[in-house]
Amino acid sequence: MQCLDFQRRNGNLFAEHIAIADIAKTVGTPFYCYSATALIRRYQAFKHGLDRESALIAFAVKANSNVAVLKRLAHEGAGADIVSAGELHRALLAGIPAGKVVFSGVGKTNEEIAFALSAGIFQFNVESAEELDRINLVAADCSTSAPISLRVNPDIEAGGHSKISTGRAQDKFGIAQADIPSLAARASHMQHVDLLGLDVHIGSQITSPKPFKDAFSKLRGLADQLRRAGYPISRLDFGGGLGVGGTSRNALDIAEYCALVRAMTVDTDYHITVEPGRSIAAEAGILVSRVISTKKGAERTFLILDAGMNDLMRPALYDARHDIEPVTLASRAEEPVDIVGPVCETGDTFARQTKLQRLHAGELIAFANAGAYGAVLSNEYNSRPLIPEVLVEKGRWAIIRARPSYDEMSGRDLVPSWIGIEHEKAVVAPTLDATSLH
Ligand SMILES: *Cc1c(COP(=O)(O)O)cnc(C)c1O
Repeated sequence: MQCLDFQRRNGNLFAEHIAIADIAKTVGTPFYCYSATALIRRYQAFKHGLDRESALIAFAVKANSNVAVLKRLAHEGAGADIVSAGELHRALLAGIPAGKVVFSGVGKTNEEIAFALSAGIFQFNVESAEELDRINLVAADCSTSAPISLRVNPDIEAGGHSKISTGRAQDKFGIAQADIPSLAARASHMQHVDLLGLDVHIGSQITSPKPFKDAFSKLRGLADQLRRAGYPISRLDFGGGLGVGGTSRNALDIAEYCALVRAMTVDTDYHITVEPGRSIAAEAGILVSRVISTKKGAERTFLILDAGMNDLMRPALYDARHDIEPVTLASRAEEPVDIVGPVCETGDTFARQTKLQRLHAGELIAFANAGAYGAVLSNEYNSRPLIPEVLVEKGRWAIIRARPSYDEMSGRDLVPSWIGIEHEKAVVAPTLDATSLH
């Protein structure tokens, strides 16, 4: 593990002061395990890196929305970048002040806009002319004014996976630069929106400085242009998207990323917002699983785990790679294996032909960098209950989401009475009723 807070002692993996094997004994496998110290370390790296007391570090809730995680970050002063009313609900529940919440996303419903207005959020990041009109109308209904920023689509190829690129002209996100001035004019004539800033977010898992530099300078240029035209632009939101770890040695780190933001703002009084998700949470979490068995296939050896693609979707969804290591190192021969889950899909494959010490059924294995877009993307495919989440801080640990029982999982399904009544003759409506055709 590359992370400071997941270290080995005598070959055994620890989260801070707690042995992973001990947690596994209590909660069973698979489970997610987060280090609070690692989360805070990364949050603080942004805080120090931006070096401006007023800067808002709005954690992207979609990366890890566990309320305990949000609450721990809230204690440090974090805000939230949300993309739904559900995320706003979680953020508020976690004690993040509404005044530190940024509302992003291309599909905000009127109900969600009204909820965010009544909470009193920091800003709406507006995605289109149509959305601008709608926010104005909803705010009028609520007899209030919505603080807004316009999301610029800088038309930049960010270099990450195509499925997580968001800043190209063909992507559904943001407003073309050429349309920004006319949209600003339109907003300035509206009674119920306050245009305060501009924002960008060009994608995720970006590890080189170039796309950020290009996007930031376009953002700054447009903001200055609007200011010169007389609009009171006071805020710049640089989005998220900073990548983590991986193989590239010279990948951008948080300090270097913040230096890019600083360089773009030193000579100005723009208020700064950033929306990091992955770069705060990914390395602060691991997924712990157990070997169910090994299988010698015709051509390959498979290591079959009790964690599947439903628990960690990233490899199946966008070819993400996670370093996978035994929880306890032993001096055994290494062999190339395909690491797979138990789900009935070929896509349920975490790694192909990777070298690993020979492992036996029952032994534990850990996936690195699983703290972001892990638990949040999980589902119950194959009727596998959502797996628990555990938070460690120094010598303490707690379950922060319990493993549901099978009854809890299936209890959400409702069986209508006509299916429930057995051995009774079905009552057939004598005449055809149009409503019954649907
Ligand atoms: C997803 C998202 C983020 C966070 O992205 P990371 O890659 O996790 O840092 C920030 N802002 C917006 C608008 C997003 O959609």
